[in-house]
Amino acid sequence: MKLLNIVKKINSSAIAISILFVTSSFNISSTKPHNNPPINSLSKVKVICLDAGHGGHDFGAVGRKSNEKDLNLEVVLKLGKRIEEELPGVKVIYTRTTDVYPKLYERPALANKHKADLFISVHCNSADRDVRVRNSRGKYVNSVKRNPQVRGTETLVCGINRTNEQDVAIRENASILLEENYQDNYNGFDPKDPSSYIVFKLMKRQYRDQSIRLATYIQNQYAASARGNRGVKEQGLAVLATAAMPAVLTELGFISSPEEEEFMMSTEGQREIVDNLFQAIKTYKNNVEK
Ligand SMILES: [Zn+2]
Repeated sequence: MKLLNIVKKINSSAIAISILFVTSSFNISSTKPHNNPPINSLSKVKVICLDAGHGGHDFGAVGRKSNEKDLNLEVVLKLGKRIEEELPGVKVIYTRTTDVYPKLYERPALANKHKADLFISVHCNSADRDVRVRNSRGKYVNSVKRNPQVRGTETLVCGINRTNEQDVAIRENASILLEENYQDNYNGFDPKDPSSYIVFKLMKRQYRDQSIRLATYIQNQYAASARGNRGVKEQGLAVLATAAMPAVLTELGFISSPEEEEFMMSTEGQREIVDNLFQAIKTYKNNVEK
């Protein structure tokens, strides 16, 4: 059976977590095809894990005036404070609170260890692309093709199908390439090879639906604040793949757009973004606890 072969091949503990979940949901759906999955484990939001993308040696996307890793952290710390102040009884855990780099697989592992009910990874997008161009002496050199006009927000959940574009995932998963021994930790997954993304299909259905729900609330909030809305997408994101809870990765805006970079750097912009994320979390919490 295909699934068993996959289970045999994959033995890294990080990936194995998601396999365990998919195996159990597979069994449930094969014996009771018309039953909805149990929602007991999703009925309360008591622990939220906030993940500021990148950090340390991994700068993430680089803008004209700022680095993604710093903007992510500023927003995450403000969001965590807001949650602690206004949602008593909810505990916030952080994958980082300073300029350090936890490996991608360690981030959802921390959320799993603390039995978090939500995992939210915060990032900034970039439309700038590395290209090879000929210089004046006719030699090929690395350069950056800027796309300052591309703007907007998007929120991703982990998943893949054949028609998926993997643009955000390829860029965000590239952090893995800066990690030592990444072949061991991700079981041979190659961030540059889209065909290896098939492993990310294995997300528990129940978490997928709830992740899409939270992602939709987040995008609705951005849209209500008149931000560009690029929608909810499903891509093979390593940082979400092994989370044993609903998990999303939100792109706050394009650091490659001078206007959006200014907005994301500003106190007022960060206040609005934090408010958007907070309201979405609150809506989600009220909804699942009804
Ligand atoms: Zn990022």
